Amino acid sequence: MWRATPLTLFPAMFPGPLGLSLAGDGLARGLWACDPYDIRLHGLGRHRTVDDTPAGGGAGMVMRADVLAAAIDAAAPAGDPRPRLLMSPRGRPLDQGRVRDLARGPGVVVLCGRFEGVDERVIAARDLEEVSLGDFVLSGGEVACLALLDACVRLLPGIMGKELSGEEESFEGGLLEYPHYTRPRDFEGREIPAVLLGGDHGRVAAWRRAEARRITGERRPDLLDRRG
Ligand code: SAH
Repeated sequence: MWRATPLTLFPAMFPGPLGLSLAGDGLARGLWACDPYDIRLHGLGRHRTVDDTPAGGGAGMVMRADVLAAAIDAAAPAGDPRPRLLMSPRGRPLDQGRVRDLARGPGVVVLCGRFEGVDERVIAARDLEEVSLGDFVLSGGEVACLALLDACVRLLPGIMGKELSGEEESFEGGLLEYPHYTRPRDFEGREIPAVLLGGDHGRVAAWRRAEARRITGERRPDLLDRRG
């Protein structure tokens, strides 16, 4: 079973929204598991402290390497085959290719940062792969982790009703997706493109390919370059 272990100061945030809809049904059916691990269990002293002031001074607090390493070792002991990720704005931006690879594997262990982030030394000491959700700053790694898990879980076998619907959409062919339409045929004077109503599957497919290229070229020319 594909197993996610978020390491967090807020285990109550999991499975959160992933307890509903597609991912939630999959959880209930045992297609994947979400076992959040409370970093605070390894906090120090009476107050179970997990953070301290930054070396060199400055604002905010930093999560301690020793506390995080102990939490990682307890939640994912040596021999656990799952990749260990750290949600971080400095990481490589998450993309559908990485999501597909993670979904094919045994699951993920995901460290969710808080405060100013984590002591740099734990990243190397526990071989953490830094993964970013994009060029903006969240208040913590949990929401980023939920997004990553959502993207992986929907690709797991049995989660989506129609397996195909996962293959035609944005990024799967390196392109953004073509536009969708449904009833009514006339919405406030805007018509559904005639080709989609003509019943010619070949023409529909060609139109969709052309639209996907046009929209990708307009909005994300970088994706076309990457496709070669
Ligand atoms: N001081 C840091 C930001 C810390 S935000 C900096 O300037 O880079 C606190 C935590 O939120 C981070 O440790 C990380 O786990 C998470 N986080 C914030 N933005 C993120 C993003 N874009 N992608 C993934 N995780 C993010």
